[in-house]
Amino acid sequence: MSWWWRDLGGAPAARAGLDGDLDADVCIVGGGYTGLWSAYYLARMQPSLRIVVLEERFAGFGASGRNGGWLTNSVTGGRERYARTHGRHAAIAQQRALNDAVDEVLGVCAREGIDADARKDGELTVARSAAQLARMRDFAASESRWPGADVTVLDAAETAERVRVAGTAGAMWHPHCARIHPAKLVRGLAAAVERLGVTIHEGTRVDEILPGVARTARGTVRATHVIRATEGFTPTLRGEHRTWLPMNSSMIVTEPLPAAAWDEIGWRDAPTLGDFAHVYMYAQRTADGRIAFGGRGVPYRYGSRVDGEGTTPERTVESLTDLLRRFFPAAAGVPIAHAWSGVLGVPRDWAATVGLDRATGLGWAGGYVGTGVTATNLAGHTLADLVLGHDAERTRLPWVGHRARRWEPEPLRWLAVRGVYGAYRRADRAESASASPRTSPLAHLADLISGH
Ligand SMILES: Cc1cc2nc3c(=O)[nH]c(=O)nc-3n(C[C@H](O)[C@H](O)[C@H](O)COP(=O)(O)OP(=O)(O)OC[C@H]3O[C@@H](n4cnc5c(N)ncnc54)[C@H](O)[C@@H]3O)c2cc1C
Repeated sequence: MSWWWRDLGGAPAARAGLDGDLDADVCIVGGGYTGLWSAYYLARMQPSLRIVVLEERFAGFGASGRNGGWLTNSVTGGRERYARTHGRHAAIAQQRALNDAVDEVLGVCAREGIDADARKDGELTVARSAAQLARMRDFAASESRWPGADVTVLDAAETAERVRVAGTAGAMWHPHCARIHPAKLVRGLAAAVERLGVTIHEGTRVDEILPGVARTARGTVRATHVIRATEGFTPTLRGEHRTWLPMNSSMIVTEPLPAAAWDEIGWRDAPTLGDFAHVYMYAQRTADGRIAFGGRGVPYRYGSRVDGEGTTPERTVESLTDLLRRFFPAAAGVPIAHAWSGVLGVPRDWAATVGLDRATGLGWAGGYVGTGVTATNLAGHTLADLVLGHDAERTRLPWVGHRARRWEPEPLRWLAVRGVYGAYRRADRAESASASPRTSPLAHLADLISGH
């Protein structure tokens, strides 16, 4: 269980499971942000709809209750691809929609009385080696050609005014990001959709999705529309084994830092914090004065196995702890309170997608890689429009209907992911030990193999 749920006193009180067969207008499989945002907008736009959410464990059990709490505006897979396939204006529209979705989530929180510890102080990404700094400058230059990216480059002194990270040579900041408490958001959202009349059945695993049908051991739901919102767990569904690759991400959280440590670190506002390493880290300052710090541990398990419980190997905890203490020597004496992992969905082309097949009534959204906290809101909003047949600007965004090819069979997937992450780790080590601004050729090779 994530520290976020522990902070709320553990898993929420269980909701009833499905009890026999049921008819509905819309059946949503998966009770994370994607499923719940879809239900939220559907119920608000058409209150008469019979909407049922089927959730294997409990609402917020997956990545939605475990993430780093960056409500940020990333276009998963990058804008360039959409510029190539749909034109520059479409890529800009995708960016603007994600910028707006950050504020939309904050707006819904205010409207529905969800206190998710939200604070919109932007996103700070630091460079801690000459190669990272060169990559940051290139990236910032290309970002500045896109309206809506709104990046600012900071030198070492300006960065230290915001957060003092040891060894930082400079940073990039943009304003379209809020820090949130992930479990508070998902818990509040589940309660909000129930108030709107949506039924959430927990402890109900869907074994198979077919047109008009979601089949479980506890009964079958028949519905005009069935939406797959299972993200990193998708490979466990019949027929979906190679659709998305389940990638793990792990986090640790410290005990609250003493005031003297915060004085040294700064970080008075709450920008989220990342870096320009290939195996990157992500962190937030929590509302109660801890550091929550994440990164890749064991990225992938053979055969797309998913460890639903999120158990974190000791050496992952050690390596994240070591990195956290190298970032913040002032936190070296502060104990680690908890560690956990979660699973996210990676499409073969690393680009997120949302869509509805009109002929079958089957909808889907996911493949957000590590950036779904905001995109799930846009996806849920879009799915609601698609189900209701609305022709909105949202439904014309370039990620709508996007399909990637399937992943290769094993052992190729395992070999490729292992090779790619091994190469990224070696590239990071080489870059940290060198004064050269050149990105390690190993990282270029890994980019090529992964299709990233
Ligand atoms: C450790 C970690 C850190 C992250 N940090 C960030 C971050 O800071 N910012 C960001 O933007 N993104 C982050 N992400 C990604 C983000 O959390 C996800 O993209 C997002 O939560 C996806 O929401 P979802 O509803 O699609 O999937 P999930 O939250 O995973 O929900 C899927 C749900 O489906 C249920 N389910 C699965 N199979 C079945 C079945 N067969 N039948 C019924 N129910 C089923 C699961 O139990 C689960 O509750 C992070 C992810 C992880 C794991």
